Amino acid sequence: MRSIFHPATAEEAVKLRHEIDGSAYLAGGTEIMRLGSSISSETALIDVSKLPLSGIREDEGAVVIGALTTLEEIRTSELVPDFIREAAAAAASLQLRNAATIGGNFALRRSDSFMIPALLSSQADVTIMCTKGLRRKSAAEYFGKTECRALLMSFIIEKGRNGIYRRIGRSSHSHAAVSGAVSNGYYAYAVSGSGIAFGDKKDIWNEIDFRDDLTGSADYKRYLASVLL
Ligand SMILES: Cc1cc2nc3c(=O)[nH]c(=O)nc-3n(C[C@H](O)[C@H](O)[C@H](O)COP(=O)(O)OP(=O)(O)OC[C@H]3O[C@@H](n4cnc5c(N)ncnc54)[C@H](O)[C@@H]3O)c2cc1C
Repeated sequence: MRSIFHPATAEEAVKLRHEIDGSAYLAGGTEIMRLGSSISSETALIDVSKLPLSGIREDEGAVVIGALTTLEEIRTSELVPDFIREAAAAAASLQLRNAATIGGNFALRRSDSFMIPALLSSQADVTIMCTKGLRRKSAAEYFGKTECRALLMSFIIEKGRNGIYRRIGRSSHSHAAVSGAVSNGYYAYAVSGSGIAFGDKKDIWNEIDFRDDLTGSADYKRYLASVLL
């Protein structure tokens, strides 16, 4: 039977996450509860959904998005740069957008992620709670760690940042075959079943090891990536 813990603070949540091997944070729960989830039904859950980590505010020329903010809140916020709102809208179902959080989406590191290309290309920072306390680092640095037990607390994005977000899939409700974003000359690409690449070169997609999957052949996705932005 699965155990669920309800920590009262972020510090307590992180402590539990370190004490219980293979545990996961429960935020919106849309990945954890999904049929065929990447997270086993035996995994102990640390429920962070009631912690005060949601909402969008302005702070000294930046937009701060709490990690528990839902994709629907992001899609409808006038504070959030347009290309990041478009990325949130890529989750085509309203029910999903109403529950799925930005923190959960980023932490999952899925190669068909809704938000990762837009967030990486925006050169956002994140605040995280780790065992040593609250830390700020670039989203890219957090992303580079394959398993990070820290709790994402917020995303900090330059206010009014311009960018372009594009996504190609079989339909608006299908998983993205290829998605990508560019902002201030910084590019990020996510290719289903293949990987994610980001950097200041337009052809950084070349670093991805393209693989065939249900969304298309490796060659097809390589072509899409080459013309996406
Ligand atoms: C029908 C359906 C289709 C989907 N399609 C897609 C898709 O195309 N692309 C896609 O990217 N996702 C997809 N998802 C998965 C999921 O809905 C999203 O990735 C969502 O944003 C996850 O957020 P969540 O809050 O629900 O995460 P949860 O399910 O609560 O948690 C997921 C993971 O994120 C970690 N986590 C959550 N919050 C934090 C935090 N603050 N700090 C650190 N780690 C955290 C947890 O430990 C857990 O491992 C789909 C889900 C469903 C049900």
